[in-house]
Amino acid sequence: MFTCMTSSPEETVHLAELVGQKIREGTVLCLEGDLGAGKTLFVQSLAHTLGVEGEVTSPTFNLMNVYEGICRIYHFDLYRLETEEELEDIGFYEYTEEPEGIVVIEWPDKFPESLPEDYVKISIERTGETENSRRFMFSCAGEKYQEFIKELETFVHTSH
Ligand code: ADP
Ligand code: MG
Repeated sequence: MFTCMTSSPEETVHLAELVGQKIREGTVLCLEGDLGAGKTLFVQSLAHTLGVEGEVTSPTFNLMNVYEGICRIYHFDLYRLETEEELEDIGFYEYTEEPEGIVVIEWPDKFPESLPEDYVKISIERTGETENSRRFMFSCAGEKYQEFIKELETFVHTSH
């Protein structure tokens, strides 16, 4: 586990760029945080760093967007989902169980039982210090990403 503070949208863009430089294909990344925390901004910058050229918007209504960059990026937003059945219908488990490309999930906490065993988690909180200050907490579930989190910590803290 490690944390990183940002005090503006631009600093969050920079942080996401650093993560984009290190993230590997096959990663599931869960992004928690209240409305307006910065989840979608983070995903946009991550996707652009991975070579996505088109628009990146939160799939609140269509539930999943797919982008083509140096690899495929599957962007889920579970905010509006109500039942586990709907999750199954959109093929969520096929994407998350043996992920190809990179799978990013906003509002993973809506379906905690449906998440894969291994994933990277970023929780974003407003610190309250200023309107724009955010705390990013990086952690992981399972064993698979433990080494990655350590490498990312070193990279982020030396490039920040
Ligand atoms: P979410 O997807 O978590 O609901 P968004 O990424 O859509 O949130 O929106 C975050 C909003 O907060 C944007 O309008 C952004 O400009 C603003 N903002 C202010 N400070 C920050 C910060 N430090 N990091 C990220 N976003 C910030
Ligand atoms: Mg969002």
